[in-house]
Amino acid sequence: MAEYWNEELETKPWQAVEAWQAKQLSTFIQRLLERSDFYHKRLHELEVLSKRINSLEALESLPFTTKDEIRRSQENPPIGQPLGTNQAASLRDIVQTVTSSGTTGRPVYYGLTRHDLEVWSDAIANMFFTAGIRSDDVVAHLTALPMVAGGLPYADGFRRIGAMLVWLGGFSTERVLSSLPQLQVTAILATTSFGVHLTDHCRNLIGCEPHELKLRKFVAGGEPGLSQPDIRRKISQGWGIRHIREIMGLADVMAGLWSECEDSSGMHFNAQRYVIVELVNSTTGGSLPWVDGSTGELVYTTFDREATPVLRFRSGDHIVVTGTSCPCGRTAPKVRCIGRTDDMLIYKGMNVFPSAIRDIILTRFSEWVEPYLRIWKDRVDQVRFDAPIPVEIEARRGTDPNTLGAIAEAIAEEVRKQLQVRVHVSMVPAGTVPRTTYKTPLVYVRPTKEVQG
Ligand SMILES: [Zn+2]
Repeated sequence: MAEYWNEELETKPWQAVEAWQAKQLSTFIQRLLERSDFYHKRLHELEVLSKRINSLEALESLPFTTKDEIRRSQENPPIGQPLGTNQAASLRDIVQTVTSSGTTGRPVYYGLTRHDLEVWSDAIANMFFTAGIRSDDVVAHLTALPMVAGGLPYADGFRRIGAMLVWLGGFSTERVLSSLPQLQVTAILATTSFGVHLTDHCRNLIGCEPHELKLRKFVAGGEPGLSQPDIRRKISQGWGIRHIREIMGLADVMAGLWSECEDSSGMHFNAQRYVIVELVNSTTGGSLPWVDGSTGELVYTTFDREATPVLRFRSGDHIVVTGTSCPCGRTAPKVRCIGRTDDMLIYKGMNVFPSAIRDIILTRFSEWVEPYLRIWKDRVDQVRFDAPIPVEIEARRGTDPNTLGAIAEAIAEEVRKQLQVRVHVSMVPAGTVPRTTYKTPLVYVRPTKEVQG
């Protein structure tokens, strides 16, 4: 059986892959100038028309694209151009829209032509193939929203591999669980939160332990979390499986971008045939090399997308490079996601990702707490905290109530030591934090109090 979806590109030295990608750039830029009003305007102003962009160094001289800019380009669109000024194909050629699942601001939409659809299903299949999905798998697809990257596009990817798609997203948890043995499901795709939720509720909903359902593979993405040893252990022990892989993609760029191989040591970039990925310093915007331990923000250029192409798109995803070579033979760098720019909080001048707080808690205190917590903001737009950041953490069932105060203090102390950030920890009963079937947020906004008179 083949080990790779696209052996040539997946095993070619990474520098050679980048050199091949660079050759696609000048045609891509030309197409942008001709077809996207949005890019024509900004590139024309920069007089790059006269320059030839044929290397990744030259690419670095071009401006970034942010999600806010794309969002603004979709305000008051003319008739026939619902995707705004960056719609680079006519409605006759666009066959599908996708939306990014951001929780803040007006939703942003992207389009796919038939060609884009072909590109996406190939790249998404590549991602799932790397994650170990094969044509003899029966895959339960648990995303409930067809329009997000992880919805219909992922279904296409599974069918492209030839796996049997069982789309259970949207059904009740009970129906999902009872369908697994009935359809002899071998693999699950879920968000990490929902995977944990299924593990927790199997016994009380369908009367058996998850490991009795004979699942073999678990693939999760959509949010950081699976990189946490405790969460991985919980899923692994609950389902009695070792095949647990993390994946990542973005509707803004490509639904399937990154995936863990059998080494499970970070996600390989899988979309090299269609997308250029750069690592940049999120503060200065300067380029960073792909070396072990390097951290930065991922930036993407979709050199083979027709409907809504993006040039140097700032993903807001902050990652650490976990490797640049791998026993599996893939040459693409491997990463783990640390957090998102949108989620970043500032405590007295120190930047902190909510996921970093969660990681410390789950790594050091999992004996006493459940993998659920929430951080409270006073307002939607609050980023800065001058008082300790309020964090609610679920105590594990059976934890001695008399020890909760001491556990809360120990957690606050550990977070202060590792992140130089103060948190105010409240322990709450297991089950307090609402579970969702899509992504479980870490940050919540306090309900506003009614002002009288
Ligand atoms: Zn690998």
